[in-house]
Amino acid sequence: MQAVASSPIASIPTNGSAPITGSAPAMVANRLLVVDDEPEICEFIRDVAEAVGYEVAVSHDHRQFRSLYEEFKPSAIMLDLRMPKGDGVELLRYLADLVCQADIFLASGVDTRTLNTAMRLATAHGLRMREALRKPFILPDLRAALRRTLNLNMSITEQDLEEAIRANDLFLHYQPKVSLVAGETPSIDAVEALLRWEHTVYGELPPDKFIPIAEASGLIVPLTDLVLRNALEQWQIWHNGGHDIPVAVNLPACLLTDLEFPDRLSDLLTHHDVDPSQLILEVTESGAMMDGPMAMDILTRLRLKGVELSIDDFGTGYSALVQLYRLPFSELKIDKSFVMEMDRSEEAKTIVRSIIDLAYNLDMNVCAEGVETVVIMDLLRSMGCDKAQGFYFSPPVPGKDVHKLLVDAEQLGTATSL
Ligand code: C2E
Ligand code: CA
Ligand code: CA
Repeated sequence: MQAVASSPIASIPTNGSAPITGSAPAMVANRLLVVDDEPEICEFIRDVAEAVGYEVAVSHDHRQFRSLYEEFKPSAIMLDLRMPKGDGVELLRYLADLVCQADIFLASGVDTRTLNTAMRLATAHGLRMREALRKPFILPDLRAALRRTLNLNMSITEQDLEEAIRANDLFLHYQPKVSLVAGETPSIDAVEALLRWEHTVYGELPPDKFIPIAEASGLIVPLTDLVLRNALEQWQIWHNGGHDIPVAVNLPACLLTDLEFPDRLSDLLTHHDVDPSQLILEVTESGAMMDGPMAMDILTRLRLKGVELSIDDFGTGYSALVQLYRLPFSELKIDKSFVMEMDRSEEAKTIVRSIIDLAYNLDMNVCAEGVETVVIMDLLRSMGCDKAQGFYFSPPVPGKDVHKLLVDAEQLGTATSL
């Protein structure tokens, strides 16, 4: 794996989201209100946010915040959880009482657990909590978080999405899952298909800007069919080029109530002449743990047909271990929120280690997502993690570029011994 460690398969992108800022017109006001008692921090956030495309107002105390909130009408708020006069939790309650619709970031030097508790509390109050940012800020993280929340989705409608599906404006990128097996040369184990939308006005949109609309409107069903068809077609292209590379597709939870789905999928696999073992379906932890025999019925039939099943975003739901043991999954994917914190937080490290042990004891493979640095990759390897995915190895790339990743990885493998 050292070959990958010293030479990532592809370059690391500068931020975690698609390049949406350049092409987006200012149709929806992006106004950020910063609340922090330290003026230098406010100015730092102001500089970063203005460069990303926000109009910014700052407030150093709670009273001023309340009047600015009314006047400025922010679309996003960056709140310091701990301030000398009045704490952030009080302000969150105040915003909840006003039924505030702004996207909210919490920033603080307090420990991750307290920060996450405040996030959960505010979510329970109905606030649109976006991300918790640890201080001191890391510039690329702050910039990426602000970009992710630029208010683009407010003017995207169900009809736009329907039209985009018809017009073929949606397409897939693929991100490698890399094998971390100790003592073996690096290899790409599989790729995950990730959806993008080439929007005629906004440019390339990441899935979190439209998957929620698809799920709320029911368009997620035709959308998933489209993703499966495209991914299987792409598999054939790689196959014809001499590479059999399993492809993972994200399966929305609602398809676990569609009893006809396993047969539809079988027909699709036959039509594209793809062996079921070459397809991995990723279901989020909360989706997989949905109650009821129907989900179990569908998952079991998918597994019997030979499709691999993976639990996505593991660690974010509330899995009953017994249920986890009973379901026919062969892989656990550790949510990136824990993986990305591993080098700064002992708690995150402990959670990741526990999930790896759990997977091992249940005889499942384990894949860590969100690996951005060699330090984290080394930590994961030392904990016995099987697979990893993240910008350190490669960002999601177009299907035609996967061939190059595979060839590069093979060359790294033959040129370097561990
Ligand atoms: P996910 O399934 O957890 O996919 C992984 C996400 O993490 C991807 O974001 C990927 O680009 C991002 N990522 C990968 N490595 C790193 C890293 O090192 N650092 C950071 N910060 N991020 C990393 P993306 O493509 O924006 O997708 C977001 C989510 O949208 C996916 O999360 C998945 O839940 C959903 N999604 C994507 N494609 C589809 C699809 O075809 N169908 C459905 N139902 N959902 C999809
Ligand atoms: Ca996934
Ligand atoms: Ca995930």
